[in-house]
Amino acid sequence: MKIFVVAAMTVLIASCNATKTDGKQNAKSDAVVSPVTYANTITAADMKKHLYIYAGDAMEGRMTGSKGQKMASEYLRNFYQDQKIDAPIEKNNYYQSIPAEYFERLEGTEGSENVVAFIKGSEKPDEIIVLSAHLDHVGMDDDGNVFNGADDDGSGTIALLEMAEAFKKAVKDGHGPKRSILFLHVTGEEIGLYGSKYYTENPIFPLENTVVNLNTDMIGRIDPNKAANPNYIYLIGSDKLSQELHDVSEEINTKYTNLELDYTYNDENDPNRFYYRSDHYNFAKNNIPVIFYFNGVHADYHKISDTPDKIEYDLMAKRTQLIFYTAWEIANREGRITADKLE
Ligand SMILES: [Zn+2]
Repeated sequence: MKIFVVAAMTVLIASCNATKTDGKQNAKSDAVVSPVTYANTITAADMKKHLYIYAGDAMEGRMTGSKGQKMASEYLRNFYQDQKIDAPIEKNNYYQSIPAEYFERLEGTEGSENVVAFIKGSEKPDEIIVLSAHLDHVGMDDDGNVFNGADDDGSGTIALLEMAEAFKKAVKDGHGPKRSILFLHVTGEEIGLYGSKYYTENPIFPLENTVVNLNTDMIGRIDPNKAANPNYIYLIGSDKLSQELHDVSEEINTKYTNLELDYTYNDENDPNRFYYRSDHYNFAKNNIPVIFYFNGVHADYHKISDTPDKIEYDLMAKRTQLIFYTAWEIANREGRITADKLE
């Protein structure tokens, strides 16, 4: 009997301890906010809705400086206004204007603009994470056929909108990012990376306070070489300046998205030289760690057949979630990511 009592008490004490431990874990998970709820607002259906408009014929292929490109910029600005996401320069000014002279290959236009939106960090507002995608494409051919550029880079553009919406929802719930996020839609990419070059020469926030650039250019299609295993994304640049960035990126993917991260094009000797071919390079040039997210090329690349009906929306949403989770981690982790390979 006595023994039984002792045993029962032991069980009781053990269960008290268990309860205590559970309580502690709950308290801890309250303190570290999970991004899953917010990542789940990034959906294939939302992306499809936006992309059919953004890469529709009415935008006339979004050639830098053209009427269609101006319509595209307006679409982005209206989105941020509707979402009540702020402009970084001054209230309601979502355009970083770039004069026509800046574009060496552009004649007879009034110039162009980067479209910018901003979510201010709650604890380290001066440290900036730049999420970028190019808003322009290559226009129309001589017969009036529109280059829709659904993948290039309608997909990256819409990814930015969806990530902005997800971060804004977190802000509304009191879980906004600790560091600031700049949503940077650059113009003039197709004619020579002009918008990102202009931004890095005329940064809205000092480059020394710019923690990272995550650049998204083409994430809606499947490389024919990957048809057998389409659950992938090519990552380029992640380990070039910062081992820490590369490690965080890997960990986040393992924890949340489980895509195959393919580094084929990260090879210094890869003849495609993609590392130098999109907007992140203007940040990397300034020693800012970058990751370039890319699906690879396909038969419709830079053809009039790069249309919204060919986009893999579920995959595009999943890839966008990976970028969102990575940005969330970099924005909220204790220490700032550094270009540790330069030290
Ligand atoms: Zn592109």
